[in-house]
Amino acid sequence: MTAVALDIANDISAAGRPAGGVVLAREAGRPSLTGLTRAGLRDALAAIGVPERELKMRVTQLWHWIYARGVHDFDAMTNIAKALRTQLAAHYTLARPEVVTEQVSSDGTRKWLMRMPSTGPHDRGAEIECVYIPEVDRGTLCVSSQVGCTLNCTFCHTGTQRLVRNLTAAEIVAQVIVARDRLGDWPEAAPPQMGFVPTDGGRYVSNIVLMGMGEPLYNFDNVRDAMDVVSDGEGLSIGRRRITLSTSGVVPMIARAGEEIGAMLAISLHAVRDDLRDTLVPLNRKYPIAQLLDACRAYPGLSNARRITFEYVMLKDVNDTPADARELVRLLKGIPAKINLIPFNPWPGTAYECSDWESIERFSDIVFRAGYASPVRTPRGRDILAACGQLKSETEKLRARARLMLEAGADNRNLEENHVA
Ligand code: SAH
Ligand code: SF4
Repeated sequence: MTAVALDIANDISAAGRPAGGVVLAREAGRPSLTGLTRAGLRDALAAIGVPERELKMRVTQLWHWIYARGVHDFDAMTNIAKALRTQLAAHYTLARPEVVTEQVSSDGTRKWLMRMPSTGPHDRGAEIECVYIPEVDRGTLCVSSQVGCTLNCTFCHTGTQRLVRNLTAAEIVAQVIVARDRLGDWPEAAPPQMGFVPTDGGRYVSNIVLMGMGEPLYNFDNVRDAMDVVSDGEGLSIGRRRITLSTSGVVPMIARAGEEIGAMLAISLHAVRDDLRDTLVPLNRKYPIAQLLDACRAYPGLSNARRITFEYVMLKDVNDTPADARELVRLLKGIPAKINLIPFNPWPGTAYECSDWESIERFSDIVFRAGYASPVRTPRGRDILAACGQLKSETEKLRARARLMLEAGADNRNLEENHVA
């Protein structure tokens, strides 16, 4: 794949809308309603004096405009009286996180660097990345749950970064809203010219994977509330079976995740022996493989139609022998499972290498013969470093590149069209 990364920082989308809502909540000095739960909207309305008896109806109206229509402006909310619209605009905004850069890969994968509104005078605004992966019949958005991570998985670049903070539920939801803004995926909006989007007539963002930065089960309440908003049938409508929560194995939270979030579960297994997993995923020292698999067996709603995905990163000479593959199959016996072999994505300074293709094939053959279909995850967006564990790692470099392109007078839109075509 040729490297065709480009940055179109703060560009105007093809739909002619402001890119990702460039008006920042922190600039406006008013909080944004975008991303709030129904309870959050209710509180916001009550706080500006909307009478108790009206609250339910007003929440329903706001919900529709924010999550079904994607509006940026209270004035577009035509079934809300002008006086209330004015009052809403005096206290709140519908601002989104700022899109700092957007990169489009030659395979259509898009990566956005988003800056969250500042939470106080000493906060420049947390930056996270969000990746969109289009296929013919679906569009998958890889969403972050934390800024950084407290767990130090040795092969993961996020694990080398300290945890800055948990994302709020609204900030998790806002990643979906920004993606839909950028893709023109609202009624009356248009997709970016020459962009890759699913062609089956469905939503451009049809699936969510919580596989960006952070450990979702260490930010449980916010992830749960965010998934309630995202899956709500009167708004964003991404069903829970189209949401996958990936965890490194926070055993005590797995049952609650099933009961309260009800998403599909993915487990970052990566090793079949405790001594090795202790190193790769240090959380294993607390919750070893046997306990983790017991929690999987007990996962609410587990069935052949609702399998658990086991992720296994292929690390050269570390976990990629045929014996490892056979042990993996043995360990998972009896659990309705899918196996996802992930080619390791190297990052600057890592000691690991990706297994060679022959080892991956040998490994995948053993897994395949045991009855698990097409298990190797195709790397997507490699030219824009959109891979798991690399999120935000090369941001500074890419920004410098964007500047150079601008200085060189490059027309980013033409570049985008040329590259994506
Ligand atoms: N914290 C959660 C979710 C985020 S990581 C978890 O660990 O599951 C999402 C997936 O990317 C995990 O399976 C993780 O192990 C994998 N991953 C992290 N760094 C990677 C890398 N450099 N190459 C390939 N996969 C990686
Ligand atoms: Fe955190 Fe997941 Fe990376 Fe481990 S793999 S450091 S849990 S983001």
